[in-house]
Amino acid sequence: MLILGGMHGDEPKSVFVAQELVALLSESPPTHTTIVVTIVNPDGYERGVRRNARGVDINRNFPTRDWKTSPQHRRFHGGVKPASESETRAIVRLVESRRPVRIVTIHSISEYRHCNNYDGPAGALARRMAKFNKYPVTSNIGYPTPGSFGTWAGIEGGIPTVTLELPSHHSRKRCWEDNAQALSSCCHWPVEP
Ligand SMILES: [Zn+2]
Repeated sequence: MLILGGMHGDEPKSVFVAQELVALLSESPPTHTTIVVTIVNPDGYERGVRRNARGVDINRNFPTRDWKTSPQHRRFHGGVKPASESETRAIVRLVESRRPVRIVTIHSISEYRHCNNYDGPAGALARRMAKFNKYPVTSNIGYPTPGSFGTWAGIEGGIPTVTLELPSHHSRKRCWEDNAQALSSCCHWPVEP
């Protein structure tokens, strides 16, 4: 099981929720090996901005078939080539070496668009999380995301991947309360043979 937080540095609630999960799991160890990366983009997090220190959106920099450079869309700049960023390569190496059976990548989104957004064979995982957090389940976030982690790991990599979009209008404490069970239950959920 792999959990990612802080891929976008201006979504600190995702980091808080990932850190709280680490604290919870240290009290009640999961049945599966669980890796939590609390801050994928530490430079962006330190500065409170979406992109990394080189101005690249990590969630548009993964080596997918639909990757494209987009310097004109500065906020969503995908980099000069796929996996050009060290943060992206670190996550690619982690996934390829540890082969997680399911992944949750935590983000936050504007009011009333929060959801369990799944890529690849992750419908059951998204619905399981929805039982606890009551967020809508969708396979389509509603806008193109070339080079996204979900496309790379979920659609092209075939690993069940949920992008958990927290509601940015909720407090970080509320986000954690609503997702504690959703996340911890994934770490205790048996893996199908
Ligand atoms: Zn995000």
